[in-house]
Amino acid sequence: MTDPHLGSRLEELEERRARLYEELAEVGDFRRGSVSENYRRCGKATCACAGPDHPGHGPRFLWTRSVPGRGTRGRQLSGAEVGKVRGELAGYDRFAALSQRIVEVNEAICEARPVLPVAESSPGSGDEKGGPATNLGPISPPDSKRRSPPK
Ligand SMILES: [Zn+2]
Repeated sequence: MTDPHLGSRLEELEERRARLYEELAEVGDFRRGSVSENYRRCGKATCACAGPDHPGHGPRFLWTRSVPGRGTRGRQLSGAEVGKVRGELAGYDRFAALSQRIVEVNEAICEARPVLPVAESSPGSGDEKGGPATNLGPISPPDSKRRSPPK
């Protein structure tokens, strides 16, 4: 109300935040982590995978993600699942990017929003009624009375 420019900036930021929340709602299913594609040798000397040019058996697809405090967790994926899971991982990237922007716009809103005027009836302002304003009021520093004027 004191600064009209400030108000319009706040409004603009709130609109931006509302759009980001709408985008967030449209992200859909998402999950963290990554999909790895692995080939391995079974170890049998007679198997084709023992050949120097053989990539090994596979591919075997794993979805892995790091869980705070519990290390890396993973699960093997069926071939049919891989495309779906990759799409969900991309969804997490969209979610993470949007949530970062939401954090930033919220901080800007906090900075732009003016402080509310202090209510008249707030406790602690009892000076006019003669009540104790604060507990520290009547206490003076211990040595202030002892200090004698210089002679
Ligand atoms: Zn083999």
